[in-house]
Amino acid sequence: SARRRRSQADLPTDTPRGVLEVRDLTVDFGDQRVVKGIDLHIGNGEVLALVGESGSGKSVTALSVVGLLPPSAVGGGSIRFDGKELTGLNFQQWRQYRGRRIAVILQDPSTTLNPVLTIAAQFKDSMRLAGPLPSDYRDRIIDLLAGVAIKDPARLLDSYPHQLSGGMRQRIAIALAMVHDPDLIIADEPTTALDVTVQAQVMSTLALARERTGAAMLFITHDLSLVAGIADQVAVMHNGEVVEHSDVYSVFDNPSHEYTRSLLSLAP
Ligand code: ADP
Ligand code: MG
Repeated sequence: SARRRRSQADLPTDTPRGVLEVRDLTVDFGDQRVVKGIDLHIGNGEVLALVGESGSGKSVTALSVVGLLPPSAVGGGSIRFDGKELTGLNFQQWRQYRGRRIAVILQDPSTTLNPVLTIAAQFKDSMRLAGPLPSDYRDRIIDLLAGVAIKDPARLLDSYPHQLSGGMRQRIAIALAMVHDPDLIIADEPTTALDVTVQAQVMSTLALARERTGAAMLFITHDLSLVAGIADQVAVMHNGEVVEHSDVYSVFDNPSHEYTRSLLSLAP
């Protein structure tokens, strides 16, 4: 991918840094199978868009990848990150990954931000995941907030999420996702809950933040019009199955599955 920042020349060739490999993943709620043996691949530094209509299983897939569904629901298959199996990790083991190497941005920033903590406190909490708070933490927070195009970021440090607009909260959620320079970002409908006027700003902020870190990303959306501007690869999900998985040009120019063709004919 042209989007990756990190040169692979300085890494050993057997280190698949940040690569996500999902194989034959199934998720069941009771006797209802909502993810039906899907495969997904995200290469180092690549952006994979997972698209499909509401209810097709996108969020359940994302929650499985970050270990937020009970193992009984994630019935089978394999989720490998950097060559390591993630299914079956315990809570303690997950702390090495979720929120650090794998960042998560959800549709509603209020599920990512803690309502009872100031903005500064949330960044400090996240930084402490990696050890003692660095002495220059305040400057680092301000840099991270400036990196998502927040003007005069010092002014926000003592604010609480509810005092800020939805667009501002989502930008802060993106900045928070970048604290540990993640290898992989999972962004599940990050602009869907926002006013149309701020959706484009948040999309470009997310794209910029990702480009700066060179992280790979699983970008989930029901909105095909957001995909061309950000994705390298596209996986189309329909009724719990991935019905198409190829590079973004092929999907738009030559969709192989009937469902993808119907999605495209509905897109603006
Ligand atoms: P999408 O994100 O593509 O809109 P979801 O992954 O949220 O769809 O949901 C896929 C299916 O799984 C839907 O039929 C939904 O109702 C069902 N589902 C999601 N979460 C749960 C849950 N916790 N318990 C039972 N069913 C669920
Ligand atoms: Mg969803």
